[in-house]
Amino acid sequence: MTNSGKLVVITAPSGAGKTTIVKHLLQTIPELRFSISATNRARRPMEINGRDYYFLTTEQFRRMVSQGAFLEWEEVYTDQYYGTLRSEVDRILSERKAVIFDIDVQGALNLKKEYGDQALSIFIQPPSLDTLIERLKNRKTEDAKSLQKRIDRATKELTYKDNFDKTVMNDDLKLALSEVMKIVCSFLGVPVRTH
Ligand code: ADP
Ligand code: 5GP
Repeated sequence: MTNSGKLVVITAPSGAGKTTIVKHLLQTIPELRFSISATNRARRPMEINGRDYYFLTTEQFRRMVSQGAFLEWEEVYTDQYYGTLRSEVDRILSERKAVIFDIDVQGALNLKKEYGDQALSIFIQPPSLDTLIERLKNRKTEDAKSLQKRIDRATKELTYKDNFDKTVMNDDLKLALSEVMKIVCSFLGVPVRTH
């Protein structure tokens, strides 16, 4: 199969639209499976443990770090840890599916370094920092402190955009979805899906 062993890494600052884009790709490209990350952050009301993330306590997360369970992990925000489990990637690759990741820019760079041409990294660019802030506010998932952490980090993360294989502007969502779809299907060697 052409898609087996391939990794699609979607990255951007929080609020740029990664999750929206990843969900669409998962609904339309049957060859893809999501790498469910682990985190110690609080679960949002709409999120499900084992579907969106594996929600762990800080102690559980640290124990798994010391056991070498993570392919990569980051303290993305102060005291908030996120990581890609080796078991998750191994399981998906053993099913001969391609893996899709929704991770921060540092994690994306680390995966790219580890996997080289086996991985495709796509940076999702918001039209501006102001738009990104608006989207985060409208999403209504963050309290004031968490919102500020994300804005502070986004300024730095936006400067990383040239370090990835592709950059896609997410202004008009439909256009962004169609562009990402073409790039990913071409990388996987599968027909472009159009819904
Ligand atoms: P991320 O996963 O990068 O943090 P999300 O996918 O959660 O970002 O998107 C942040 C918010 O912006 C969500 O409420 C989402 O519905 C909205 N959004 C995503 N793309 C667009 C777009 N092109 N135009 C307007 N709103 C968008
Ligand atoms: P959120 O709390 O909004 O779900 O995610 C915050 C940030 O952590 C986002 O940039 C998200 O992509 C990133 N993230 C999620 N999972 C992982 C992971 O496994 N590793 C890394 N490095 N970052 C992750």
